[in-house]
Amino acid sequence: MRIERDVPLAKLTTIGTGGPARALARPRSLGELEEALRFAASDGLGVVTVGLGSNLLAADEGVDALVLRLEGELAEVTVDGDTLVVGGGATNAVCLHRARAAGLGGLEFACAIPGTAGGGVRMNAGAYGRDWSDVLVRALVVTADGSTWVTPAELGLTYRHSDLRPEQVVARVEYRLEPRPPDEIKSTVAELVARRKATQPTNKRTFGSVFKNPPGDMGAGEMLERCGLKGHRIGGATISPKHANFIENAGGATSADCLALMHEARRRAHEELGVVLEHEVVLVGALELEPLQHAS
Ligand SMILES: Cc1cc2nc3c(=O)[nH]c(=O)nc-3n(C[C@H](O)[C@H](O)[C@H](O)COP(=O)(O)OP(=O)(O)OC[C@H]3O[C@@H](n4cnc5c(N)ncnc54)[C@H](O)[C@@H]3O)c2cc1C
Repeated sequence: MRIERDVPLAKLTTIGTGGPARALARPRSLGELEEALRFAASDGLGVVTVGLGSNLLAADEGVDALVLRLEGELAEVTVDGDTLVVGGGATNAVCLHRARAAGLGGLEFACAIPGTAGGGVRMNAGAYGRDWSDVLVRALVVTADGSTWVTPAELGLTYRHSDLRPEQVVARVEYRLEPRPPDEIKSTVAELVARRKATQPTNKRTFGSVFKNPPGDMGAGEMLERCGLKGHRIGGATISPKHANFIENAGGATSADCLALMHEARRRAHEELGVVLEHEVVLVGALELEPLQHAS
């Protein structure tokens, strides 16, 4: 398997920022994935699996790790009865398309989540009241020591969280769906996509929700809007004028710009509303949010 050097993560993330990966491999089969993981373990390199990079912020200085993109067999989708069997690198769009063609419903909620099956498991991604834990039967988790099928309970899936560690790669996923006419699926998807377009910056470079919604009725976006942060800009990054829980790359943004905006947003939400926001976006490389003053 070919190892690429110094590929900028800006090319692999939807926000379009991030410096070079020390090494990048694109395994196309379980065997190649295991080989790549053994290579990383023997070289003492950390592992970062990148799906569509739609929830990632990577350091401008780069990432001193083996970055993995799952391709080939590891991105395939097949239908087996009412189960969709998909590679960890399969995109949600392709999974949804295949499910609809097979007359299987249940994944419609994922229509506006621009990620992969593996990224969905890792994040327990969700929308419209459903998340990965509602459809996931089991996931094949691979490390340098071998592979194991694990259940949602074993993955510890809670709101935008799993217990997966960076060196654990989701290579295959099984979704349990239910029969539904393709036309119904199509109209549900059209309605959800229209709702999304009306409220979120779907045509900009972002990494999705910056912060998790804290417990309670008010979402992080509404909180940040109340703090007057819509449109706030640092360098090339802007808090979306459409939805305050999104950061847009308004042109030439760096990850440092995004991180500075995240810090400012947390500081303001803490000072003005007494809320400690927890980031949803995954920080990769030497990126850390400054601690809040007097955080409770
Ligand atoms: C416009 C927009 C809208 C979004 N809307 C939503 C939404 O409604 N709901 C929601 O939950 N999210 C949303 N997101 C965020 C994002 O799409 C999801 O978190 C998605 O599941 C991430 O998948 P990914 O493949 O892009 O993962 P990445 O962003 O590439 O990675 C995210 C994390 O998953 C890990 N990972 C990726 N693949 C694997 C794998 N195969 N095995 C193990 N770990 C892996 C990465 O290492 C990283 O820790 C949105 C993002 C954007 C840009």
